[in-house]
Order: sequence, then structure tokens, then C-alpha cells
Amino acid sequence: MSLLSIGTVAFDAIETPFGKTDKIIGGAATYISLSASYFTQNLNLVAVVGEDFPAEYIALLNSKGINTDGLQIKKGEKSFFWSGKYHNDMNGRDTLITELNVLADFDPIIPASYQNCEYLMLGNLTPMVQETVINRLAKRPKLVVLDTMNFWMDVALEDLKRVLTKVDVLTINDEEARQLSGESNLLKAARKVLTMGPKTLIIKKGEHGALLINDNDKFYAPGLPLEEVFDPTGAGDTFAGGFIGYLASTGDLSFENMKRAVIHGSAMASFCVEKFGTENLLNLNKQMIADRVAEFSKLVNF
Ligand code: AMP
Repeated sequence: MSLLSIGTVAFDAIETPFGKTDKIIGGAATYISLSASYFTQNLNLVAVVGEDFPAEYIALLNSKGINTDGLQIKKGEKSFFWSGKYHNDMNGRDTLITELNVLADFDPIIPASYQNCEYLMLGNLTPMVQETVINRLAKRPKLVVLDTMNFWMDVALEDLKRVLTKVDVLTINDEEARQLSGESNLLKAARKVLTMGPKTLIIKKGEHGALLINDNDKFYAPGLPLEEVFDPTGAGDTFAGGFIGYLASTGDLSFENMKRAVIHGSAMASFCVEKFGTENLLNLNKQMIADRVAEFSKLVNF
């Protein structure tokens, strides 16, 4: 089953209570693709970087089976750059810098070989670009999942509301669900967001897990208690990559299977936060992922 992911491929500078990085590789689509690569092999990426982006990292993505024919490299331009600082409890963070650079006028070109993709993951990016990608696909994918963040609610709310009418699943965090709906109660917020287009909503709650909600059902996945949490950056994207990767590998879009997909996404996110940046996502294997999923079962079975 083919999966197309879009989103930022970026440089990040991160500060957590445990340390600080200079520019390292990040970006929503980077985390999504690496995470999904453990579930499905037919994986295509659409994104844009500047001339400053290291060719070795693109080769690394390729070595994970990620097709980068749709990754544009803009001569003489700089890659998207984001810098953030986490609060002491690691749940909240402040964005210090967002430099759009190549993202400011990104025109996503879909290679012919990517057409007919069955699963589309619209990672965090300009809502207008997310919509353009949907419009440029000859056939609507079987499943469209969209992730976004408060930044786009602040600067492009109308565009975001328009693209929401075209997606199946929305993943946002609890604060973003409140901001988007104007409701402080999470269930009321969810109900309102479900009238905006998506049939299914996933509300991520950081270390406290994730809620999966549609008009008829609710499911709560806990966060796995971890001894080492170094850097939560990319956890949401890694979750999304695991979620849609699992759905693409099983081909079953029932609510019951989405529950399993949420647990697989949560397992992937738990690996992500244990090291800085994408480091921990580079050397996993199927057995390690299965063992993590088993830990989730053990945690909630009684
Ligand atoms: P997450 O921690 O899951 O929210 O994802 C963090 C990643 O999102 C980082 O690697 C950033 O490069 C990327 N990012 C930060 N701000 C934005 C933005 N406004 N649009 C798209 N990607 C962003």
C-alpha cells in the first residue's frame, strides 16, 4: 500500500532541561517518514529544502526505503529552521524562532510515480500547501490524515478550515483542539472539531497519551511511563507516521484497527523522545517495536 507524506524537512535547534543542540535535522516530514518506514516500504516524500541541507541525510532517508523524488532542493536558498525551548516538565514548549525560508513559496510538485497513493499524510506545513497536494492528486486517497499546529491557526486559520473539510483524520494536541474550537472542555472541543470536516480526531496529550474520537466511539491510549525523556521534538509527527504506517500496512480503516494504530503510533513516539532529534528513530527494528507495543498492553490490562 503506497503512502505519500508531506511536511517540513528542516533544521531544528532545541533546548531541553537536559541539553541544547545546534542545528540538527528535523522537520515534520522527516519524523513521519522515518517512523512510517518501519511499517510500509512503499513510502514517498514531498517536501522542500535549501542548498544547505546535507546530501548524506537524504541518502540516509533513501536507505530507509523513503523515495525522495518529490523532495525539491532550492539552489541558493535556506532550509526551514525552527528553534524551541522546553519547559521544565517537558510538556510545554516555547517556539523561539520560525524561519520559513524555502517554505515561504513552496509549490509542491507530485512526481507521476506518486500518483495513485492510497494513504496521504499531510504533515505540519502551510495549510495552503496541504490543500494543493490534495488537489494535485488525480485520485482521492483511501485515507487522508492531517497534522497541524497553533502556528497555522494563528497565521492561516481560514486556509486551515478549508483544508479540514477535505480530510478524514485530524491530529492535534489538546491546546490546539481548544484553540481551533474555542471550547475549553476537551470533549466539547472534539465534538465541534468533528463538525469541521474530519470524521475522526486524535488529540495528543504529550506524556499523558492520546485520545481517538469519532461521532460514536472514544478510545484512550496512555503515554508509556519512561525513565529517559530527553527531547519531545517530533513526537507528534513520529506518532502520526506510526499511526498511518500501521493503517497502510494492515489496510483496515475500522475504529478497532485505528485503536491499534494509535498504540503503534504511541510506541514509535516513545522511542523518539528518548534521544535528541531523530537519533533514536534510525536504528529500531520490528522486534523492538513489538516489545514496546506489548508494554502498552501490559500497562492497561487489568
Ligand atoms: P512536533 O514536536 O511533533 O510538534 O514536531 C516538531 C517538528 O516540527 C520540528 O522538527 C520542526 O522542524 C517542525 N516544525 C516546527 N514548527 C513548524 C511549523 N510552523 N510548520 C511546520 N513544521 C514545523
